[in-house]
Amino acid sequence: MSSPSPGSGVAVLGVAVPTPLRRLFDYRPGAAAPEGGWQPGLRVRVPLGRREVVGVVVECRAHSELPLDTLKPVSACLDTQPLPADWLWLCRFTARYYQHALGDTLHQAMPVLLRQGRPLEARTRERWQLTAAGRDTSAAQLGRARRQAELLELLRQHPRGVVHSVISAQGFARAQLQGLADKGLASATEEPLTAVPAPRQGGLLAEPALTLNREQAAALAALHEGLERYHPCLLQGVTGSGKTEVYLQLIEAVVAHDRQALVLVPEIGLTPQTLARFRRRFRVPVVALHSQLTDAERLDAWEAARAGRAPIVIGTRSAIFTPLARPGAIIVDEEHDGSFKQQDGLRYHARDLAIIRAHREGIPVVLGSATPSLESLVQARAGHYRHLQLTRRASHHAPARLELVDLRGRRRQGGLVPPVIDAIRQALAAGNQVLVFINRRGFAPTLACHACGWLAECDHCDARLTLHRQPSQLTCHHCERQRPLPDACPDCGSADLRPLGTGTERSEETLAALFPDVAVHRIDRDSTRRKDALEQTLAEIRRGEPALLVGTQMIAKGHHLPHVTLVVVVNADAGLYASDFRALEHSAQLLVQVAGRAGRAEHPGRVLVQTLHPEDPHLRLLAERGYEALAEQLLEERRAAGLPPYRHLALLRLESPREADATQLAGEAAEALRDWLASHALAVDCLGPVPAPMERRQNRYHVQTMLRSERRGPLHDACAWLVRWLEAQPGARRVRWSLDVDPQTLS
Ligand code: ADP
Ligand code: ZN
Ligand code: ZN
Repeated sequence: MSSPSPGSGVAVLGVAVPTPLRRLFDYRPGAAAPEGGWQPGLRVRVPLGRREVVGVVVECRAHSELPLDTLKPVSACLDTQPLPADWLWLCRFTARYYQHALGDTLHQAMPVLLRQGRPLEARTRERWQLTAAGRDTSAAQLGRARRQAELLELLRQHPRGVVHSVISAQGFARAQLQGLADKGLASATEEPLTAVPAPRQGGLLAEPALTLNREQAAALAALHEGLERYHPCLLQGVTGSGKTEVYLQLIEAVVAHDRQALVLVPEIGLTPQTLARFRRRFRVPVVALHSQLTDAERLDAWEAARAGRAPIVIGTRSAIFTPLARPGAIIVDEEHDGSFKQQDGLRYHARDLAIIRAHREGIPVVLGSATPSLESLVQARAGHYRHLQLTRRASHHAPARLELVDLRGRRRQGGLVPPVIDAIRQALAAGNQVLVFINRRGFAPTLACHACGWLAECDHCDARLTLHRQPSQLTCHHCERQRPLPDACPDCGSADLRPLGTGTERSEETLAALFPDVAVHRIDRDSTRRKDALEQTLAEIRRGEPALLVGTQMIAKGHHLPHVTLVVVVNADAGLYASDFRALEHSAQLLVQVAGRAGRAEHPGRVLVQTLHPEDPHLRLLAERGYEALAEQLLEERRAAGLPPYRHLALLRLESPREADATQLAGEAAEALRDWLASHALAVDCLGPVPAPMERRQNRYHVQTMLRSERRGPLHDACAWLVRWLEAQPGARRVRWSLDVDPQTLS
């Protein structure tokens, strides 16, 4: 009995190709039909203009709007079976939701080698084992074939087999293996490179799970209740409260059910330390999608996940597009972290897609954080997410309170006031480590002329140049342009040029002078450019000698620093008065994260926060009543101002080398959109256009228009219409534009 093969009667293939155009291209199937017939999800090679590109079949139709004989045929089908349907669904959802071209979305969601047309199949290796006859044969029976005898003994010691690369690494030649095989003593099987070793006795865990405290146990029990269905949970736990231990035990349950777990961590969070912790716990492999993988390794990992051979997959933002054969749970650690949102091209939010994906696949999803995003808090309060809380640290110390230190009218050395310097001295004298957090890399935020007030500015951006000393130069942190240090002021000729403000390099220099007997480690993007530099410094710090750590947010996140008992925040003010509507939320999250570095092990900690605004109501709320109380206040302000999470936003950004071009197109777009909204009676506000907060960047002018609505439906319709309108504008070619749905910043 044969059922009609899928896709029989297909006359036209709607193919998503990698172009910025938001539409499918029609092709004739040609002679390339795969064995199983045409289906959505098959990769094809197709002619596009004068090129050949790799696209993905999205629709199989009987008809085209174009005459069939004008369609070009597909050159080749690249797959024997389609890419997974759930994966295709997620990509289509993403393209639609973020108003991005589907072809480009699909390309971004697959490993580079698949984009290039490489087959999706597991690379294999040989595993050699003794046969029954081989097990009954003694080395002595092999007589003069001495190397074969040694090989026989090697295989005997490994009843589960030895892979070929290991055998050749021991100096054996293929002829010796073949010799054993010819005698019927050994045989080889092919297995995927990413094969999961057969379980040894002793089960799943390589290291026993910890005994959970009462709150952890309650959280885990709640998670166990929803293992078989969509079950979104917000796991809110102060730093060090044992969220990771809860993840590990949830994963244990998922893998025990023969399902796969996907763990998303922030960019900065996929450290060797984190990975080691997961790998120590489980006997099954933990597949990590980190930036140092080769293209071939990335494809192996993707294939293993798709085939179900990777029980645990851990990665950063883009890992949300890893297909799983038997999805069991998705965990998003530090869900509030900004790195989950891609800031260019396909501007997706991996946390939001995690929710969508878990819903589609009918599995639990856990969003974990000490400082949840306001979006997630609102969902939890509304009962859409289950709210699980860990309020106590596993070490029993309460997290350190923030102590505000008034900067006004006080002498500063390297940005630090005398009582803070005293506190540092005491902590070091007691044999502890001190973390000095300063969110500006470089020596000083800029260089100033004391005679005329000139400030070093970038020629290409509306921004100051940062002064660096290692090496000595001025750098723009927005366009990366570098300039040599001037000997004299370009405006007045005075030689009295001085650094203005404090960056990590300057802080490092001052602290080294103040505490000459103590090691000072600087951790920022500049000091960690060299591969492994960060890990080496952290290893040095973990040895526990008294030391000073000076760093940016790079050190604030994720790292376990058990010997730090004092955290100093050099200046908390930048985020308090920034224009961006999320600035307060983000700076509170960062402060709490930094504070969480103090006293994680047996030492209680102290956190000193320097500020010029000790009476600032937001800062006081955070210091006195904690993140939750501040979040409550911020939510009220957001509601009053009509901002997310109560209203939904989309931001149209336009940029052009000529200011007039950008402004004109922005104005026309806003006008056309307003007309369209009015004629459709849609409740969407169109605000702007206005110049971007930093109007000139890299010598291009930036303007923007904001769309805002209480409901997602009308906002989505307006975005879709606007994008089509822009695509149809001839003038749009001189202007680059992008639409950001759910923007994280308005800059
Ligand atoms: P979080 O992820 O919330 O920051 P972790 O899971 O990293 O917290 O836990 C912080 C520390 O507490 C770790 O050293 C961890 O081993 C330890 N810990 C977590 N849970 C327990 C527990 N139930 N019993 C003992 N120690 C625990
Ligand atoms: Zn001057
Ligand atoms: Zn610049």
